Formats: sequence, C-alpha cells, structure tokens
Amino acid sequence: MRVLKFGGTSVASAESIKEVVVIVARAVEEDRAVVVVSALAGVTNRLVVLVDRVLAGDTKWHPGLEDIRSRHKQELALIGNGNHPEVSRVIDTRVNEIDRLLTGISLIGECPQVTGDRILAAGERLSAPLVAAAFEAYGVRAEVVDGSELIEADRGPDGAEVRVEATAGRTIGRLSALDRDIVPVITGFVAADPAGHTITLGRGGSDLSAAVLGAALNCDCVEIWTDVNGVMSAPPRVVREARTLPILSAAEAAQMAYFGAKVLHPTCLAALAGRDIPVLIRNTYQPAGDFTVVRQNAGKQVGVRAVTAVEDVAVFELNRPPGADKEWGQRLDRVLAEVQNQLLVVSRTSAEGDWTFVVPALAGDRVADRLATQRVDGAMVRRRSSLLALVGSSVLAQPWIVGRALEALGKQRITVYGLFAGSTPCAISLLVSPEELGAALEIVHESLMLGSWANAEPIRQEVENGKEKIERVYSGGYRQCRSEAHSPAA
Ligand code: ASP
Ligand code: MG
Repeated sequence: MRVLKFGGTSVASAESIKEVVVIVARAVEEDRAVVVVSALAGVTNRLVVLVDRVLAGDTKWHPGLEDIRSRHKQELALIGNGNHPEVSRVIDTRVNEIDRLLTGISLIGECPQVTGDRILAAGERLSAPLVAAAFEAYGVRAEVVDGSELIEADRGPDGAEVRVEATAGRTIGRLSALDRDIVPVITGFVAADPAGHTITLGRGGSDLSAAVLGAALNCDCVEIWTDVNGVMSAPPRVVREARTLPILSAAEAAQMAYFGAKVLHPTCLAALAGRDIPVLIRNTYQPAGDFTVVRQNAGKQVGVRAVTAVEDVAVFELNRPPGADKEWGQRLDRVLAEVQNQLLVVSRTSAEGDWTFVVPALAGDRVADRLATQRVDGAMVRRRSSLLALVGSSVLAQPWIVGRALEALGKQRITVYGLFAGSTPCAISLLVSPEELGAALEIVHESLMLGSWANAEPIRQEVENGKEKIERVYSGGYRQCRSEAHSPAA
C-alpha cells in the first residue's frame, strides 16, 4: 500500500487536480493507494489573514470569504461534466461555517485555539471533496475521509503531538472498512484531540499527516507530490546547475530542511523514524521526471550532497562585559532557552565569554527584546546576514570538502564571516553577506561538483518505463551515484 500526498500546488485548480487523478489512477492499477490532500494553493494563508483581520477589528471579511467560495465552485464546475450538486452543497456548508466562526471571533475579540483550528482546517475540508469528485468523474471510486477521524493528537507546548497508537487503531479501523477499490481522499493537516475537537498539525502539516498515516498503515512508501523534481543539490532558482538528489538519508534531509531547503516538513521524517518506509518527493507536473527518495538509513557513505541557504538571518555577537555580575551567563542561558526553537547555530568560545548565535531574521526583534529584558548587556553586535550550509553525511570527516569550498570562495573574494561545525556530522554552515549569497551558492556548488554526480539515471529510466518498483530502483541507482561522488578528484 502507498500513501500519496498532494500539496497545495498540486491541487491548485481543476487542471492540476486532473494531473493528480492520472497519477492516482496509475498507482491503483498496481497497489492500494491512500490519498492525502492539502488545501488549494494559497487558501490556508487567506484563512490566516481573515482571522488576523477580524482580530484587528475589521468586520468586512465577507468579500474575502466569498472569494474562497467562488474559487472552489469555479474549479468544481471544470471537473467532469461540471454537475456536482452535493459537493457544491458541501462547499457552502464549509464556507458558512467559517463565516459563523469569524462572527464569533469578531464578537468576543479573541480567537480560541479550537476555533482557529476549525477555521484553518476548512481549507483541506474544502479541497478533499473537490479532489474526490474529480476521481469519481474520471472513473476512480473515492470517498472523502476527514483527518480527524484518523489522526489523534494532543495540544503540546510546541504544537500538536500525534498519539501514535490511537492513530494507528483509528486509521486501520476506518480505512479497512472501505471497499478495496475505493480510494480514501483524506484531508491533510487535520486531526482531532482526544475529546474529538478539530486540531491542526502546524503549517505545512499535511506532510506529517501523510507520514503518520504511512506509519499507521505500515505502507510500502509515502509519496509527497509537489511542484519540483524532488530535493535539489542547491536552490534551483539561484544555481542553474542544481540537480535532483536521487537519494538522501533522513538525517541529511532533516539538515537540509533545517538549513533552508524547501524539502519536507521536518517532523514528517521523525514520524517515520525506526521504520524502513521510504519517502519519495515527486513532481505532479512531471510524474516521469527525476525525484528523490528519502530513506531512514541510506547506507554508510560519507560526503557532501547539497548546499542550502537561509537567506535572511540575524547574527548576534555578544561579549561578556568585564565587570559583569555572576548571573550574566545564567541570564543569557535563559534567553537562549526561551528562543531555542529559533536558534540556527550557536558558537561559544571561552566559558561565558564570547558568543555568536544566529536566528532567522524574523525572530531577530524578539531575541533582541529578550536580551534587553533579561539585562544581558555587554558589547553586542546584531548583523543581517545569510547562512549557507554544506549538507551531507559526515561532511566533517572529509576535510577536503570544507577546504575546497573555502578556497573557492576565497579565490572569488567572497568574505566568510563565520563558520560553524561540529554539532552535527551532517552540516557545516558559513555566514556570508546577503548580497554575495547567490554567488557563494554557485561557487560552492561548482567547487564541490554537486551538479555533476547527483543525477542518477537508473531511477529515471525505471519510472519512464512505468515500473515504479522503487525497491529495485534505488538499490541500483544509489550505489552508482555514490561511488562517483566521493572521489576527491583534485
Ligand atoms: N494547508 C496547510 C498549510 O498551508 C497544510 C499543508 O498544506 O501542508 O500549511
Ligand atoms: Mg507543503
């Protein structure tokens, strides 16, 4: 059995939904398939904006809401013969529900979490019936299943925490009751708390839904269908030579996500930890194109796979002032603990003396504010910068990697303001100026030859032949591309 998850860009319109139907129709010829969908592209963002505006006192949310209603109805009219009165009613029910919830928020002037969750979940609850209607229209039997019927989660301090066992029980029970030829179309991002209230899994959480369901069903693989050809060796908009990485370990993928690559929701891989369920990242618009397989354990190789970047970061440099009281270090520790979810890298020299740490630029004000409140005084510099990371397995174990990258940057007179290594074997990161980031990415990508070996022919050929037996594909493709990768040729 396979789980196929389609993101917002894959279900953006009736036209893209048709691509989805073709992909799923082919998948069900071979095996049972479970489909997970996101909201139509941009819809969740619009719901977030509506809530924010209502909270800010704006009472004119109706035009925005009517846009959402008409967009879904317009796309519905383009599916099959366009005649889907039941789905049209579902759309009305959902949109009217959002309207009532917004009225409530507007009256009480605050948005309780359960209410906010119900509003945000509406995006997926609107998209799933559209997708299921498309399946039916093109001859694939389908049934909408709400994520809250399957995934159980608690509200934790850092967001929803999935209850793995309860989820497995519910999922197996609910889905095995379906006829074999019915494809469940499940609302991603949506779950229920133990009391049955809707809860959402955090932005981008449909990936997590797919992983959690994949684990619950012990399926053969989880396919994340998006609008790019898998995970690339560099940001493709900046580095034209960027290539699809045919295979990545979960640790590498997690580091790439952490250091800015648009890969997967980071918790998605954690949900599959300890299981040998590969995650495939594939392009809905190029189903026969290159793709990436992420495996929990991708072998024992060492080397660099990709260069990624967090474009806009705030760098804080702190020196303990000479006469500082004893608690200075403790106060700083407190701030770092408060903002730990935001910390990208931290470096500390002599005990409590000099510190450098990096956070996404958006978190910069909050960190500065916390430092001031906690009276962490002393010489402090805050700089805007970019963080570039070399990601792979044991990148540190082969010093030629960072050596060659630094040499190439130096030759092109790109200044490196900071270097962080050692806390993970999978990444080394460098600070460069935002103006030089594009050039730095290209130089590092080229100097490490990341574009020349990353593409694995065997994987692509198998898919073109229509035999998507990934088990066989990556066992062959993997070794071939790896052995070329790690000869430090110069
Ligand atoms: N629709 C949700 C979001 O935009 C969940 C997802 O797409 O993964 O965050
Ligand atoms: Mg997403």
